[in-house]
Amino acid sequence: MTLPAPSARAFVPFVSVENMMRLIHQVGLEPMLIGLTDAIEDAFRRWPAFDKTPRVAAHSTEGVIELMPTSDGIHYAFKYVNGHPKNMKEGLQTVTAFGLLADVDTGYPILLSEMTMLTALRTAATSAMAARHLAPKDARVMAMIGNGAQSEFQCLAFKAVLGIDTIRAYDIDPAATRKMVGNLAGSGLTVIPCASPEEAVEGAQIVTTCTADKQYATILTDNMVGSAVHINAIGGDCPGKTELHRDILLRSRIFVEYPDQTRVEGEIQQLDPDHPVTELWQVVTGAAEGRQSQGEITLFDSVGFAVEDHAALMFVREKLHATDLYDRLDLLADPDDPRDLFGMLVRATPAR
Ligand code: NAD
Repeated sequence: MTLPAPSARAFVPFVSVENMMRLIHQVGLEPMLIGLTDAIEDAFRRWPAFDKTPRVAAHSTEGVIELMPTSDGIHYAFKYVNGHPKNMKEGLQTVTAFGLLADVDTGYPILLSEMTMLTALRTAATSAMAARHLAPKDARVMAMIGNGAQSEFQCLAFKAVLGIDTIRAYDIDPAATRKMVGNLAGSGLTVIPCASPEEAVEGAQIVTTCTADKQYATILTDNMVGSAVHINAIGGDCPGKTELHRDILLRSRIFVEYPDQTRVEGEIQQLDPDHPVTELWQVVTGAAEGRQSQGEITLFDSVGFAVEDHAALMFVREKLHATDLYDRLDLLADPDDPRDLFGMLVRATPAR
């Protein structure tokens, strides 16, 4: 099956969770992570072409629901995503998402997709893309603190893109670490369960924090972070929800996706509003330096930005061609005479 051209489209391709999983298996998980890393890097290289705005967040005591829109003038995308740390204890996902891609010329949607699975992949790919520019050369060991839904994707992206071969794993819940160790068996990674975050960071050149707690947490304290380390901070992505002690931020060179959003949501909400940060897209284009010396601490203050979702949806759309891994969604009222919407309704009157 081939995806219809925009003009001939009377249905919107819809990628369900089931079909997304089939697509990932068809492409291969690690090749997909590598492909997404390259696609996201290409989008960051084209950064000025995108309309950018901080995401629109609806906060509640237990979580947040966000809309993340962007356009490059040809394709428009938005993602609906939530973040509810308490969900996990109720047997629900902390993060779920779906997203839409549209043709800017007609305004017609051209793809609707689940994005819970895709967000895990694109977040891992964005982390790997950042680390490709920021991590110490020849990094082989990563500490993975927080072993929940995102964790295996993070580990595999760092293996596939950077050549990480050893993971030092810690979670306050040992069952989460056991789950991650089991899931990564046979992946080629050596996964070492650790009894504390201090033990996890020992000998690690990259430290990924990916915990979920709606508070100013201190997953890493200043004394735990030595020199020559890259920190990939994933879980601090909401006002009042951070993972790192402020003193670590003061010792690090900090890299962000979109400052207007990260200053509100990221680790740097703890710093003065004019604290210097480097935009990742400028590192990708060569306009700013990534790691300057082997000994420094670099920090990717990840919150997730709409451009990454745009790139991920475009990647999925391309991979869907010549597959049947989508449903035909009757989402668009598309009468033969575009002015005769009412006539279409009348002709659809059920026979008595
Ligand atoms: P999850 O609930 O599945 O897993 C979180 C894990 O963190 C759990 O296993 C929990 O036991 C552990 N944890 C909580 N407090 C801890 C602590 N103090 N020390 C060690 N472990 C601790 O959540 P998830 O889907 O894996 O998401 C993880 C985080 O990443 C969330 O905060 C989410 O909002 C964030 N996230 C960020 C991005 C981004 O682009 N930056 C994208 C997706 C998710």
